[in-house]
Amino acid sequence: MFEHKDLFETLLGHKNGLKLNSVNVVERVVMSLDEKGKLRSVGLGEYEPVFFDVIGDTYCKGILDQCNSNLDGSVINIQTDKGYEQVVFIPETVPAEPAIPSEYHDDWSYMLKLAALAHELGHVVDMQRTTDSNFDFSGVPKVNLVEAEAFAHVYSLELLHRMGAHTARDTVASALRRASTSSKKFEKELYQSVCRKVGKGRLKRWAA
Ligand SMILES: [Zn+2]
Repeated sequence: MFEHKDLFETLLGHKNGLKLNSVNVVERVVMSLDEKGKLRSVGLGEYEPVFFDVIGDTYCKGILDQCNSNLDGSVINIQTDKGYEQVVFIPETVPAEPAIPSEYHDDWSYMLKLAALAHELGHVVDMQRTTDSNFDFSGVPKVNLVEAEAFAHVYSLELLHRMGAHTARDTVASALRRASTSSKKFEKELYQSVCRKVGKGRLKRWAA
């Protein structure tokens, strides 16, 4: 109980061993800024953000979005002398959820931030992979968004599982299970891809 602050700070510290430009815990208002605005807010305004053309289905405002509007971080790639570097943003605060009693709000908010950080680190790993990456930086940068999202979700599920962050893991798993009922092609494909990677049975158990 109330262990999510520690878990979040631990992951913020070791970043699961990844090397990236920075992880920034920012005021919620920053999350609604565009890429340049986000970079400026953390003193990286001199860098241009990398934009990706989407291969395959583009993201849709569907079930995952509605269920997880609280669970949002983002990652921006910038080009520096050392090559591409990733800048991660995690909102400092999470809007109050009436269903969560106020004494649990703080812990619940760290639980969502932990899940968001694990997800964004998954994107970082994918962006840095030299083989099988869903991000292609050669020529016009491109992303296979369905597979990139599936990769990040799977990475976060496995990481949260290993950290013993079972509530966060199960929260991500239930959101993904809800995507199975979506009428949107993007979410159906995402769900199927996640099932192929973690196993449908495991996902179901975690979501129960
Ligand atoms: Zn994502």
